Amino acid sequence: MNQNKYINEFEIPLAKRTYLKNPNSILFKKLLLFSPFLLLFFSMVSLRLIRNLEAEPFRNLISQVERIHDHRVLGHLPYNEIPSEKLVLIEPNIEVHIDMRDSLLNMKKEAEKDGIYLVFLSGYRSINLQKDIFYSLKSKRNQEASERARVSAPPGYSEHSTGFAIDIGDATQRETDFETEFEKTDAFIWLKKNAAKFHFKLSFSKNNKYIDYEPWHWRYEGSIEALKVFETSNREL
Ligand SMILES: [Zn+2]
Repeated sequence: MNQNKYINEFEIPLAKRTYLKNPNSILFKKLLLFSPFLLLFFSMVSLRLIRNLEAEPFRNLISQVERIHDHRVLGHLPYNEIPSEKLVLIEPNIEVHIDMRDSLLNMKKEAEKDGIYLVFLSGYRSINLQKDIFYSLKSKRNQEASERARVSAPPGYSEHSTGFAIDIGDATQRETDFETEFEKTDAFIWLKKNAAKFHFKLSFSKNNKYIDYEPWHWRYEGSIEALKVFETSNREL
């Protein structure tokens, strides 16, 4: 009896650690424990979402930046004017870069051996001459600059100012000079087959997205200097 009484007197109530059983606290603890994993999971999901949703606009943005970066004006790339000491006269009114003279004249000679008579229509053109061509023709034809640019480069943006470009016609079919019909002449057919041997390349092919097809306009790529000049243009094709 005494013993029981003693126990009762000194009975210490058990601490009620109720907070452990509180469902909210358990949830909180669990959340705390898993938070790094949850954070990682949501980051991955968001990243994937961003990638899927914004991949297309992002790519467009990159190509826009590239377009701005290449400094095109109305589809034409900028070209510096050749220093006058590198210009040589190969025919009355036809000047070209000294580096391409021999190759160009050889090509003409070789074509003659095959019964093809090439005629040079236009070689080097100064930026000032290009200015006259671009603006006078634009107003004459009542065209917007953007329309005109499909057939003629704005001043400072013509391959002709480098001395490495040459417009070629067929001496037996002069009516096709500067016309798309030039592609049907024997001269053009011969050029397509042989010009590469002399390091000449058609600048504005039918695939060019900026400039209209010009079967008469060829450029020289047979020297390091010429390759450097046309590097941007070649990179994009
Ligand atoms: Zn041309």
